[in-house]
Amino acid sequence: MFTAERFLPRPNRWVEGGGLLVVNGRVVRVLESASEVKRVARESGASLRDFGSRLLIPGTVCAHAHLELSILADQLESGTEMLPWIRDVIRRRADATRTERERAAVAGAHSLLSSGTTLVGDIDSCGGAALPPSTTGIRRLSFREVLDGGDPKRRAETLASIDLPLEESAGRLEGISPHAPHTVSAELLEHVARLSERRKLPVQIHWSETPEETEWLKSGTGPFSKLLAQSPMTSGLDLLDRAGLLRRSLSLVHGNCPDDGEPSRLAEHGVALVHCPGSHLFFERAPFPLELYRKAGVTLALGTDSLASNLALDMRREMRLLRESEPGLAPEEVWQMATLGGAAALGRSGEFGELSPGAFADFALVELEESQRDSALDRLTMSSPPVEEVWVGGSPVSGESATEIPPGA
Ligand SMILES: [Zn+2]
Repeated sequence: MFTAERFLPRPNRWVEGGGLLVVNGRVVRVLESASEVKRVARESGASLRDFGSRLLIPGTVCAHAHLELSILADQLESGTEMLPWIRDVIRRRADATRTERERAAVAGAHSLLSSGTTLVGDIDSCGGAALPPSTTGIRRLSFREVLDGGDPKRRAETLASIDLPLEESAGRLEGISPHAPHTVSAELLEHVARLSERRKLPVQIHWSETPEETEWLKSGTGPFSKLLAQSPMTSGLDLLDRAGLLRRSLSLVHGNCPDDGEPSRLAEHGVALVHCPGSHLFFERAPFPLELYRKAGVTLALGTDSLASNLALDMRREMRLLRESEPGLAPEEVWQMATLGGAAALGRSGEFGELSPGAFADFALVELEESQRDSALDRLTMSSPPVEEVWVGGSPVSGESATEIPPGA
């Protein structure tokens, strides 16, 4: 059992002097008062851990990252055009050894964990660059990235690598990520749709990140025509729809330049959208059309993306950047995106991003003096408060104090 003077079990819930009853790593009860904590401790015989004046919050959910690209930290320049950036990423990633990539990925996972993130949706493009969870303590939902660039030979190899018998793929294929509608053929998208339905796998896809990719998809013109073969002459969302991918198990990443009506289509099909404020800033993109998605009722989540296009793997900074770019947005909504929204985007609502009965006891303790929910949410989403401890499944995994990122970074 855990108790603290203040808890924020969900964005809209503030508990003073209460506690959490945890059994087998999951929250069984949220206790509302000190007297209830005492009574339940007495009746259940459970040991009680008191966190005192530190604020207890659920671990945040980073809904999109590429931990393996942590190898590129501080190597690429902000404001670069997309095509030269992609070439640079591919070249530098190929130069690194597997050990170097794994080491960098572990460091990236530690950075997320020590800043209060307990679950990350991580794109694995190399296959088997998987981090053993025990090396970091963070929970990682790994999306195996696939792309064929319209090349049938590459498609056949990709299919062979993902369509394994169930027993062989156990623990290796938790989700699939066709890279993006402009880099994956319709045939491969359809295959992923069938496989994900059969195996109940979540799917994550980069979508509508740049005006150039949407131009090439719809008309075959623009800078991408030099790099990509034959345009499908239709929108990325139509391609995903035709493949049968527009459903609740899908999350899309970026969505910077949606066409009219596309946010409503996402909402209709229960597709979540992951916004990556730090990556958005890195590429100096036009303002993110957050209001279109909010009005349409799309489930929104936040991600760090990778250190190839971001300065830090720290969800506190992502929240702050979002608030700076959207001054009218309520702190509660930002916190919701970083917790419940992330869990929903990864298809794990009710299990992560909140401390409610049935959810995993994944939480962080932060040094924060605020005694009201509103002011605490304001600080949590704006001022990167120090994270003192992180617990996953009811056990401590990190006692290091995470370094605060200076404002403006
Ligand atoms: Zn990405």
